[in-house]
Amino acid sequence: MGFYTKEQKKIISILFPKKKQDYNELLESFGEFVEKKILPTARKVDKEGIFPKENMDMIFAQGFTNIHYPEALGGLELPYPIYIAAMEMVAKGCASTAISLAIHGTVCDGLYQFGSKEQHEKYLRDLIAGRKLAAFALTEANAGSDARSMTTMAELEGENWKINGSKMYITNSGKADYYFVFARTRSGFASLIVPKDATGFSHGANIPKMGLKGSSLMGLTFDNVQVPKENLVGKVGEGFEYAKRMLLGGRISVASLSVGIAQAALDKTIKYATERDAFGKHISDFQMTRSKVAEMMTEINAARLMTYHAASLKGLGEDFSAEACEAKLYSTEMALRVCNEAIQLHGGYGYTDEADVHRHWRDAKLMTIGEGTSEIMKIIISNMAFE
Ligand SMILES: Cc1cc2nc3c(=O)[nH]c(=O)nc-3n(C[C@H](O)[C@H](O)[C@H](O)COP(=O)(O)OP(=O)(O)OC[C@H]3O[C@@H](n4cnc5c(N)ncnc54)[C@H](O)[C@@H]3O)c2cc1C
Repeated sequence: MGFYTKEQKKIISILFPKKKQDYNELLESFGEFVEKKILPTARKVDKEGIFPKENMDMIFAQGFTNIHYPEALGGLELPYPIYIAAMEMVAKGCASTAISLAIHGTVCDGLYQFGSKEQHEKYLRDLIAGRKLAAFALTEANAGSDARSMTTMAELEGENWKINGSKMYITNSGKADYYFVFARTRSGFASLIVPKDATGFSHGANIPKMGLKGSSLMGLTFDNVQVPKENLVGKVGEGFEYAKRMLLGGRISVASLSVGIAQAALDKTIKYATERDAFGKHISDFQMTRSKVAEMMTEINAARLMTYHAASLKGLGEDFSAEACEAKLYSTEMALRVCNEAIQLHGGYGYTDEADVHRHWRDAKLMTIGEGTSEIMKIIISNMAFE
């Protein structure tokens, strides 16, 4: 089986019949690159908690982050689902690398949608090329799902915005060059770009966590941080809307990461089941094993279809709110179920560090929490049903 799966290939062929050969060749070669260069160090990245900077640089060099941006900004102007298909493969190779890139991608998306031409030139161009790294700073210690209750304040004083407050659980902290920060102002929420070296800005120590151990996670402190007024993204009062729209795109990425993680767990399981013997047979010969594998495959493919569907709508500029939330809810919970069965089918070995299969479950668990928990997804989806 190629690293770029035949299921991915079929979806891309259906979505882009006229360009299928070009896109499939591109993704096949990206898959080969991930398999050769990213996959081999994934276990070490997890075990030793190494921030996967080298992986990210190699992926940036492949043009990965600029897939769907206009050529004028250094992009390749390819459709959004191509980016999502590539993301799936990065997550299959190394989820720590994928989450760091996904957050970076969410900021690029926000700057592209809401930033000015000057901000595109000053920040986005470098971010798209991977010369700089970004972080998305919304959550606070007392404001996660209920992000509107954030207390970080920004005040315009003369030519500068003065920011005071703190953020919590911010991916890429301590590694990012630019922080896309959400804060309250007297006239509603605002989003501001805070460079890493802004006076009064600091980050805490890396917060140890159960999975995605290579990605960085820290709290941020803003102590009278001053940034020029040009660092405001979009309009004052619109910041929360921007956050919501950025999170919607982020949910498609998280769904694709979940599909990639689940596929990695399934691939390991199929291999193990054909090697491990019990009662004089390969465990793959037991009907119950086959039933589990059939369910794993079906669920992965269902999640993948939902994810690429949401990605297509986003790429076409259509409303994709419901589809992004549904894809996120289904794919992330699916990944947990699949990774759980993968551990089960590896037996006692699956529970050990040596098997490296519980890594996928640990990585998948965050997906049901970040960018909006499963419970919040259910609230958003059901609200749409009753509106
Ligand atoms: C590894 C990691 C990376 C992260 N990266 C980032 C990042 O880069 N940027 C960023 O801004 N944030 C980031 N976060 C924060 C993440 O987005 C939040 O943790 C998440 O949104 C949940 O918020 P919370 O932790 O405050 O949980 P809470 O909001 O306190 O929720 C606790 C529980 O209550 C449930 N709950 C809350 N409200 C309701 C309700 N109305 N109805 C039913 N149930 C409800 C939740 O679903 C959850 O199960 C990250 C978190 C982690 C762990």
